[in-house]
Amino acid sequence: MTISLIMTDVNLDKTYEHDRKEKKVFRLRIVYNRKGCCASGHCILSDPYDFDLDEEFKAILKDGKEMDNAKGVFVKEIETTEPHLAINAAKTCTPKVIAVIDLETGKRIAP
Ligand code: SF4
Repeated sequence: MTISLIMTDVNLDKTYEHDRKEKKVFRLRIVYNRKGCCASGHCILSDPYDFDLDEEFKAILKDGKEMDNAKGVFVKEIETTEPHLAINAAKTCTPKVIAVIDLETGKRIAP
């Protein structure tokens, strides 16, 4: 019996790939719902600039502001030439409690 693997690129959108030459600056909003965090730590591995862990190993959105109308939900806006870091943090978060929005288009780009 032959088992063949067909590799498909499910994410053909290269918009947010890091480009060392172009150094395009992206304005992103990161939204993090701490209530759903299961303390896996993946986000800090993907994006140590925006995430840290507290003593319970729950994520902290560095310099994030807690929303007045949603306790436990933190928001932060960044300008970065490396948007893939926050995007990867959102994509690797198992309970999907991190979202990234492109402020230029207003679209949610991760997860
Ligand atoms: S990846 Fe998600 S679940 Fe894991 S520590 Fe970060 S926010 Fe929490």
